[in-house]
Amino acid sequence: MPHYKIAIVGAGPAGYFAAQALQNSQSDELTFSIDMIERLPTPWGLVRSGVAPDHPKIKTVAKVFEKIAVEPNFRLFGNVELGRDIQVNDLIERYDAVVMATGSAIGKKLGIFGENLKNSISAAEFVPWYNGHPDYADFDMDLSGKVAVVIGAGNVAMDCARMLALDPTDLDPTDTADHALKALHESNIRKVYICGRRGPEHAAFTAPELRELPKLEHTDVHMDAMVIADAHARAAAKGEIEKHLESNLEAMRLVAETPKDSNERELIFHFLAAPKEIKGDGKVQEIVFGINEVENDAIVDSGKTFAIEADLVISAIGYESEPIAGVAFEKGKISNLDGRVPNTNVYAVGWAKRGPSGVIGTNKSDAADVVKLLIEDLKLPKATGDITELLPTGHEVVTQEVWQRINAAEVAVGETQGRPRVKATSIAALLGLGKA
Ligand SMILES: Cc1cc2nc3c(=O)[nH]c(=O)nc-3n(C[C@H](O)[C@H](O)[C@H](O)COP(=O)(O)OP(=O)(O)OC[C@H]3O[C@@H](n4cnc5c(N)ncnc54)[C@H](O)[C@@H]3O)c2cc1C
Repeated sequence: MPHYKIAIVGAGPAGYFAAQALQNSQSDELTFSIDMIERLPTPWGLVRSGVAPDHPKIKTVAKVFEKIAVEPNFRLFGNVELGRDIQVNDLIERYDAVVMATGSAIGKKLGIFGENLKNSISAAEFVPWYNGHPDYADFDMDLSGKVAVVIGAGNVAMDCARMLALDPTDLDPTDTADHALKALHESNIRKVYICGRRGPEHAAFTAPELRELPKLEHTDVHMDAMVIADAHARAAAKGEIEKHLESNLEAMRLVAETPKDSNERELIFHFLAAPKEIKGDGKVQEIVFGINEVENDAIVDSGKTFAIEADLVISAIGYESEPIAGVAFEKGKISNLDGRVPNTNVYAVGWAKRGPSGVIGTNKSDAADVVKLLIEDLKLPKATGDITELLPTGHEVVTQEVWQRINAAEVAVGETQGRPRVKATSIAALLGLGKA
C-alpha cells in the first residue's frame, strides 16, 4: 500500500485545509503522513494574528484545525522557520511533496511621497500588533494624536478603522493583546477616516461587516447618503445589480441613514478619494487626496484635491508574500500554475498561491483542488527521511503536545479575566508556557 510523506509549510487555514484534504483522500490503497512546519510557536496563522479580536466567532474555526492536528498521521513542528532553520531543498529531497502555505504577510506600499514618515504605517504592522504577534509586540504604535486615516476599502481596512474607533471597553472581554488593550484605552484617537480610491459599488467590504457599524454604541459612523445613492444608480444603470452588491449597498444605505448620537468617537467613510501625498515635518501631519469620479464604470481623476489633517495613516491596500530563500516568487505570490510549482514536487495553497483574497473558507476548496493535483502527480513513494534530522540538537520544537500546553495556559489565564485567552506575545514567553 503506497504511503507518502508530505511536508506542509505554514500552519494557517490553507495549511490545515491541505492537511484535511490529504486526510480525507486516504484509502486502503493510499495513506499519508503529514508534517506541518510553522515559524511561530503558535499555529492557526491569521486566525490568531489577523482576524479582529471583536470577531470571536470567526476564530472558532480553530476547533476544526485542532481536530485535523490530533489525527495520528499529523505532526506539528512549530518554532521552525523555512529559509532560516531549514531550507526548501532539504524538504524537497526528503518528502514526496511539499505544500507551501506560508501566506502573505507584507503590506503593499502606497507608492506616494511621504509614505515613510513616522506614523505612516501598514495594516500589516497594526493588525499583528493588536493581535499579539511576537514580531510586532514591541512595535512603536503612536496613538497620541486625535485623527487617524485608514486607506483601503476592504475588510482589513474596516477592521483597522473599527479597532481605532470603537470604545476600548468593548475590547476588554476579547483576546486583544494586553499591550494593545492598554494603548487603546489610553489612545487619543477620536476621529477615524476610512478612504477608498473607488466608489461604494466597487468597495470590497462585505455586508456582515458593514451591518455591524450602526451597532457601535459609542461611535457615530458617517457615510454620505447621496454618495451611496449615486453608486446605486450607477450600478442599476448597468442592468440587474448582483445580489452581493445589492446587499452591500443596502447595508451602506442603512449606515448612512442611522441617526447619529453626537458621540465623540467618529468613523467617517470617504469614497473616490485617492491618496496623493502624506505631508509632515518628521511625522504625519496631513494627507492629500485626489478626488476621483466614475465615468462609464472607469475611475478618473477629477483633478481636484482635498486634504485631511491627520496624526496617523494606516494603509490597508493588500499584502504580498515575504520572500523565502530557494522559493520563486512572482507578483507577491509563489510562482505557481493552479498551485503546482512547475518542475518540482512543491505546491502552493492559500494566500501564498492566490494572493490576499478570500475568506477563511475560500482556502478550504482551494486547498482541496491543489491536493487533488498533488495526488494525481504522485509517483512511487520516494521519501527518504524527515525534518527531525534537519534540526540542530537543542532546537525547541513546538509539537502538538507542546502547543496544547501553550493553548491551555493562555485560555486558563483568559478564564480568570472573562476573556477567551490572554496571549503570550514573545517567543520566549510562548515557549515557557509550553514547558511540561
Ligand atoms: C487583518 C485580517 C483579518 C481577516 N479577517 C477575516 C475574517 O474575519 N474572516 C475570514 O473569513 N477571513 C479573514 N481574513 C482572511 C483569512 O485570514 C485568510 O483567508 C487566511 O488566513 C489565509 O490563510 P493562509 O493559510 O494562506 O495564510 P496565513 O493565515 O497567513 O498563514 C500562513 C502561516 O504560515 C506561516 N509562515 C510564513 N512563513 C513561514 C516560513 N518561512 N516558515 C514556516 N512558517 C511560515 C505563518 O507564520 C502563518 O502561520 C482576514 C485577513 C486579515 C489579513
